[in-house]
Amino acid sequence: MAQVYLLLGGNLGDKQQLFTKALEMIASNAGTITAQSAVYETEPWGFESNDLFWNQAVVVETRLQPLQLLEQTQHIEKQLGRVRHAQQYASRLIDLDLLFYDEQVIRHPRLEIPHPRIAERRFVLKPLAEIAPHFLHPVLHKTIAQLLADCPDQLAVNKLNKE
Ligand code: AMP
Repeated sequence: MAQVYLLLGGNLGDKQQLFTKALEMIASNAGTITAQSAVYETEPWGFESNDLFWNQAVVVETRLQPLQLLEQTQHIEKQLGRVRHAQQYASRLIDLDLLFYDEQVIRHPRLEIPHPRIAERRFVLKPLAEIAPHFLHPVLHKTIAQLLADCPDQLAVNKLNKE
């Protein structure tokens, strides 16, 4: 069994429903969800938009190999993210990133693990630090808590206020 860390993200559509369905599909297609962070509301990184993102980190115990897992997460993105525009499927509403797969380092044309931009993104590090503060980044050799403390990203990342 491998322990993998995934990040859910999305800023369009019914985010509550999409995140609930994505977690259900991860549990049925990928493995057992053993930990999940709160949902964070985050400012878009790298572009302007009025639609805040939701992000959530989860830990999954899986029997799938890395590329099989990527196939499953891409399948889930497709299933949940398709909206009809004049007979065609368009924008993807949910994004699933593979952050870590145990302590493996994978450089494949379709899959880079650890995800290459973890250290620059507070919207990844903050949810991840909630569930895995002591996990050691296998390339940067720093814990998630250290990476968060060192992260220069100033964009807002706030726990979603559940009513
Ligand atoms: P994006 O549209 O930003 O979600 O990027 C999706 C593309 O990134 C796909 O073609 C994947 O094959 C590729 N990719 C590379 N590494 C990863 C990763 N660690 N997690 C998810 N997608 C990845």
